[in-house]
Amino acid sequence: MIEAAGVEHRYEGVLALHDVSVSAPAGSFTAIVGPNGAGKSTLALILAGAIRPTAGRLLLDGADVTERAGRRGLVEAGVALIPEGRRLFGQLTVDENLTLGAFGAGAGRAETARRLAEVYGLMPEAVRKGKDRAVATLSGGEQQMVAIGRALMARPRLVLIDEPSLGLAPILIDKVYETLAMLRQTGVTVMVFEQLAVKALQYVDRFAVIERGQIRHQGLASDPDAREMLRMGYMGAE
Ligand code: ATP
Repeated sequence: MIEAAGVEHRYEGVLALHDVSVSAPAGSFTAIVGPNGAGKSTLALILAGAIRPTAGRLLLDGADVTERAGRRGLVEAGVALIPEGRRLFGQLTVDENLTLGAFGAGAGRAETARRLAEVYGLMPEAVRKGKDRAVATLSGGEQQMVAIGRALMARPRLVLIDEPSLGLAPILIDKVYETLAMLRQTGVTVMVFEQLAVKALQYVDRFAVIERGQIRHQGLASDPDAREMLRMGYMGAE
């Protein structure tokens, strides 16, 4: 469904990605794992169409969409990015933050209400009960759920999530991944960009290890050698 082919990205002097080729088929759950500064966020932005790679191509459903990269990314094509740090409106309520996600995608009032009900169905009870609370008063894990929920309000086909576990207690990390696994069950293609490689491998079916801007290994999480590949490709694995 989504594919980066021979992608390179330079920020002024810095070569952040070099000859990166990764893909995620429709309906898959993929993790791009790697240490701090490996290039995960840059790759997430490129796959979302939010920035244009300095070389290489981005393909969506086999069509070259490299030139379509821009500030809004590929939202219209059904691609949602949940950036690192979540970027929620802390002073607004959960309900308001979710509604904004549908508003940005051009949904009308009745459609927004339908989607809200659907998204709350995926959320843990604490978030459902706190729908009228300001987002800033929620825990980090709850906020991450709201960020995922807001992206879902646009009914994306592909969801890219940068560092879903960042700053969360282990039990909450599992909750976030369980929500993503449920989302995937609904047919949405999910990609996470994650430092906690071992945790991600418990949930995803495919993974790629990125280090210093290059893909070192790609494989299936079910492969008995997956952990060994992680260890070789990524010495920072838990
Ligand atoms: P982290 O987990 O810390 O976010 P990451 O794996 O997501 O790391 P990137 O944020 O993509 O990595 O960064 C890859 C490289 O590009 C790093 O060397 C980083 O310093 C550099 N970089 C990222 N953004 C910029 C920018 N806007 N300008 C210059 N260099 C940048």
